[in-house]
Formats: sequence, structure tokens, C-alpha cells
Amino acid sequence: MKNTLLGKTGIEVSRVGMGVLPVGPNQLALPVEEGAEIIRYALEKGINFFDTAQYYRTYPYMSRAFRSSAKEPVICSKCLYGDYDSMKKAVEEARRNLNRDYIDIFLLHEVRSGDFKLREGAWEYLTEARDRGIVRAIGVSTHNSDVTEEMADVRECDVVFSLINYAGLGIRKGDGPGHVQDMEKAIAKCRAAGKGTFSMKAFGGGNLTGEYQKALNYVFSLKQIDSVMIGFGSIADVDDLLLYESGKMPSDYNPDVSKKKMIIEQSDCEGCGTCMKACQSRAIFYNERGLAQIRQELCLTCGYCAAACPVRAIIMY
Ligand code: SF4
Ligand code: SF4
Repeated sequence: MKNTLLGKTGIEVSRVGMGVLPVGPNQLALPVEEGAEIIRYALEKGINFFDTAQYYRTYPYMSRAFRSSAKEPVICSKCLYGDYDSMKKAVEEARRNLNRDYIDIFLLHEVRSGDFKLREGAWEYLTEARDRGIVRAIGVSTHNSDVTEEMADVRECDVVFSLINYAGLGIRKGDGPGHVQDMEKAIAKCRAAGKGTFSMKAFGGGNLTGEYQKALNYVFSLKQIDSVMIGFGSIADVDDLLLYESGKMPSDYNPDVSKKKMIIEQSDCEGCGTCMKACQSRAIFYNERGLAQIRQELCLTCGYCAAACPVRAIIMY
């Protein structure tokens, strides 16, 4: 696995990172040891960059995996809250539960248009934490091309974690859908400004997994991206990626996605109901929190709901 420097942070990461969300309670809810084994396997195979978040509740998996490996991971975590005290609590929680003196990268999680200024308290804490050495680099994660572009001009911002895939699935601009070209330009602007850049959702939340190599070929062709974060939910997922990366994957190979299911990411859902109108199987209902949820026994995994969701809260996994 090739390594690369993340912008000017001095942090060296693998070209492919592991998104840890799939193993945790928000998605596959694997037993801790089983999820930890996937993380440990990825680390042993040369993937040293791991993305998580306070919201994902995956620290137990990571700490168990890292405890039993001689290799050193680079950890990225993030927090959804905008105020100083909540961010402070999130960083302390990560340090304590991951058993680390410092967290390599800490981000404002999922920054939307106009959101960065509203979260200035959290940002203030992050800059202090970096000055004190308990965080090495700070930045944002975002689905928005306009936010990505905005961060190019924020001096204190070290890294930007943006959504991009060849189909443009999930890219936002302002309050509406964005275009892949806008995001390409925005990430390039960040890179030119010296920010470390890494990307998420190369498979559009699982909806492009059927075109596995096309999806990866696109995102790895983008010279403005330092590292590509991929969500792994099994050892086989890691092996598929390693085979692709080795250049030995047969050109007609696509992973078997027949056993995958659709999931609505509760932290992203805004309860607008658009997916329900798109679902002819009537498989989606409002749960007790007023958010959309799928009745798996009625779902045909057709993906119509995912395409209709304005915030890409619906993923296949
Ligand atoms: S369309 Fe998306 S945001 Fe709206 S209710 Fe469905 S999952 Fe939630
Ligand atoms: S994948 Fe198809 S059947 Fe399943 S919930 Fe979405 S629209 Fe309905």
C-alpha cells in the first residue's frame, strides 16, 4: 500500500483509508471482536488511516484492534456539535476511549452551507487542542462543494474530508444538489492552498458498488485527493480493495452485492418523507423519532429511495 503526506500536516497516511462506520452499531452492529478483527486486518495489510466519529460509537472496536497490533494507526474522528464544550467533551472522549495521548485528526462533522460560522465555538476548541498537542490536525467533513471551497481560505484548517464519486451522488451545493465538477474544483482549490484532502463515499453509499472498478478508477484518478476513505464491513471488502490496488483485479470483476441491504443513516435523515413516495414497495415508515426507517422484509433493494433522498441518507450495505 502506497503512503502519502496529508497536505502540510506532516501526517503520513495510506492512499486508502478505512471508514469504520460499517462495523459499528449504526450499520452492521458486528460483535466488537469481529469488527476489531477487520480493522486489525486492514492495519496489518498496510492501511494505516482510520476514520470514525463520536456519533458512530466505534471506539471500542478501534481500541481493541489497535491494542493488539504493533503497527501505528492514524486516527481521524469528528463531532457533530457546534459549541466549545461539546467539542472539548468529544475530543476527551476519543482520547480516553481510544487510549491515546492525542488524536491525529479531529473534524467538525458534516458541515453544511453556512454552518462553519455557526460552529465557531467548536472550532475555537479545536484550534486550542491543536496548539496544546492533543490533536495534530483539524478540519471539516462535508458533502458540500461550497463548504469545501470555503475551507481553502480558512488559514487554521489543515484538512478537508469531502464527498465525491463519479456519479455525483450525494454532493450538495448550498441547499440543493451539487455537481461532481464543482466538487472536483473545490477539492483542487483546497489542495492548492496546502490542505490535506481525503474523500468519502466513492461508492455513493453502496449504490455504485455494482460498478466497483469504475467507481474506484474515478476517485483514484483525482490528483487533488491525498487519500480515499472506504467503508469496510468484512475482511472480504478489504481483500477486494487490496486486489484492486495491486492492479491484479480481473477487469470484469465486481463484488457480489446480492446480500446487501438498504439502510437509512439516522444521523443524516431529515424526515422529509421523499423516500416514502419513491418506494413502491411501501417499505419505509416513520419511526418513533420521526425519521425514516426501512422494513427489510419488504425492501427489494431497488435503490429508488436512495436516489430520491436529497441528503443521501440512504445507503446500501
Ligand atoms: S428522503 Fe432521506 S431525508 Fe427524507 S425522510 Fe427519506 S431518508 Fe430521510
Ligand atoms: S430500495 Fe426500493 S424497495 Fe427498498 S426501501 Fe428503497 S425504494 Fe423501497
